[in-house]
Amino acid sequence: MTRAAPAHLDVPRPQRPGAAATAPAGRLRLGIDFDNTLIAYDRVFLGVARARGLLPARFAGNKQAVRDAVRRLPDGETTWQRLQGHAYGQGIGEAALFPGVGRFLRRCRQAGHDVFIVSHKTQFANYDPARVDLRAAALGFMDARGFFDPGKYAIRRENVFFESTRAEKLARIAALDCTHFVDDLVEVLTDRNFPSGVARVLFDPAGGETPADLRACASWREIAAALLPDVLLPEVLLPEATR
Ligand SMILES: [Mg+2]
Repeated sequence: MTRAAPAHLDVPRPQRPGAAATAPAGRLRLGIDFDNTLIAYDRVFLGVARARGLLPARFAGNKQAVRDAVRRLPDGETTWQRLQGHAYGQGIGEAALFPGVGRFLRRCRQAGHDVFIVSHKTQFANYDPARVDLRAAALGFMDARGFFDPGKYAIRRENVFFESTRAEKLARIAALDCTHFVDDLVEVLTDRNFPSGVARVLFDPAGGETPADLRACASWREIAAALLPDVLLPEVLLPEATR
């Protein structure tokens, strides 16, 4: 499908009285989903599916391709859930940030935008014999990648929220007065309880069909172009001699 290039997303006016005072002018309150939005599990799923002999060693493909192939196996749905339990827990160290995430988060830090991570994530997976705490695993991943490092992405640790249900996730997004929310799931962004007044951005690296009222971006470079169009960093833009 063709898709219009994302234009700048206007910061919506807060809907509730008094909410306007929470963010200084020009500062965004960016809410971002975690799984499959910031963090890509493709190579975790591929690696573990091959290692467990579920797929041929020559099999190649992203998370969705692995899921489709595994689900076709006998007892495939349970097997897929077991793989998920592993990937989001013990296997998370093998996952990677999507390309462009690091630069996006640095630009947010430099522009003074508030970044919130709001994830629908249960504490434990359905099928995980190791009983790994999935929330602790996600925090460990963020910590290891410099999310909380003042010299790197400088996200406040208390700006990370794990919610047990989608309804609680939507309530959190509303309570945080987010100006924008980025998520990889259409069903989250189009939920009838999604807070009005929050600009919705679909992260859709596969470039599928999207509802007309939803802005879709295929990469974090596109999201940056849509959300952070005016961030000019003097220390980067000025020639060395003039700093
Ligand atoms: Mg997600």
